[in-house]
Amino acid sequence: MNDTAAREMFLLKLGEVVLKGLNRRSFEDKLLSNVRRRVRNCGKFNVYSRQSTIYVEPLEAECDLEGAYAACRQVFGVIAVARAMPCEKSKEAVLAAAKTYLGDALRQAKSFKVETKRADKRFPMTSIQLSQWVGGELHDAFPHLSVDVHSPDLTVYVEIRENAAYVHAPAESGAGGLPIGMGGTAVSLLSGGIDSPVSSYMMAKRGCQLEMVHFISPPYTSDAARDKVLELARLLTPWTGRLVVHLVPFTHIQEEIRRGCPEEYFTLIMRRFMMRIAQQVARRVGAHALVTGESLGQVASQTMQALAVTEDAVSLPILRPVIGMDKEEIVQIARKIGTFDTSILPYEDCCTVFTPRHPRTRPTVEEVREVEAALDVDALVAEAMAESSWVRIKYEDGRRITG
Ligand code: ATP
Ligand code: MG
Repeated sequence: MNDTAAREMFLLKLGEVVLKGLNRRSFEDKLLSNVRRRVRNCGKFNVYSRQSTIYVEPLEAECDLEGAYAACRQVFGVIAVARAMPCEKSKEAVLAAAKTYLGDALRQAKSFKVETKRADKRFPMTSIQLSQWVGGELHDAFPHLSVDVHSPDLTVYVEIRENAAYVHAPAESGAGGLPIGMGGTAVSLLSGGIDSPVSSYMMAKRGCQLEMVHFISPPYTSDAARDKVLELARLLTPWTGRLVVHLVPFTHIQEEIRRGCPEEYFTLIMRRFMMRIAQQVARRVGAHALVTGESLGQVASQTMQALAVTEDAVSLPILRPVIGMDKEEIVQIARKIGTFDTSILPYEDCCTVFTPRHPRTRPTVEEVREVEAALDVDALVAEAMAESSWVRIKYEDGRRITG
């Protein structure tokens, strides 16, 4: 039995996905399974797609609609989400739905218009005819309203679709981007800072499935510092879906670098080790790129020469989505996605444990390779890999984050 006819539901409008021609089917399939997974915690929903729209229908009264709505707005690939009331495909039913479902909004607005989209061309009225009829009737029922076709306070949308008609107020923005999984898998280096959660979010937005790597340096770094990073990963899951965080012990490597290399090269060599280990994780999980939160010129290890030295250690591409962004722009995104307040908690990162007083800002690849030759690189990488562990962070729900 289908008892969803008179229950508020969501219409998810697809973004770039619709432009992808032959890939469209697989884009929609990915998106559908991502949406299904995200609303699962909020009750039983029927999720299906028709005509470039994903329908999310609650199947029982106990469904958490607010939670599901927030979750849908955080699914990449969705450009807008409309909360809508389905009704029978007749002009009278559409009018009745508009009056009750949008009654409050109509009472509060000063001006309005009706806009109809008719995906079902068998419907006996044209879009314009239906808009005019519903608009006229609403005008009679709410006489304080004026009709304004250019910039009304409220637009009443009517969609005549395959199985039903839908009435809704303007849709709200979705997360945009591409469905997770369509952009391949990448390993993201997640620190406790502001930048790497943002860079992770940005690559997830382009459809990357992420696998996180975090380097820990006990006893120099604390359990609290590690938990902060796990919390950041948890905060990212409404965007990224569930995450695995690989925790890689880095203390021995750092001590070996300190013992064997001149101080001015500490950070550079440390970063080369981070990339090598991340690349090994990538090989293990089938990822094809690394992601960091580096921004040009932000610190000594982020000059062009230093970036070249870092890249020299690996063959996978290193994606740096915040490379051209100012700190203020990165902070803005961190606030929007909900990671900022956690990022600024004051815990030490492994990078700050052994910071050289005068780091090399214009190193050459050759000199760094030479300095590094004092270390048994392969053995240190293998040891760190062998001692690493991982934590799976489940996707919970989207309610934690607003805006
Ligand atoms: P963030 O704000 O992301 O910490 P940052 O400006 O502090 O970045 P660095 O500390 O030099 O810059 O780190 C640059 C990048 O290296 C980070 O964005 C992150 O991708 C990676 N990184 C740094 N420390 C770690 C760590 N402990 N574990 C995993 N990745 C790290
Ligand atoms: Mg940092």
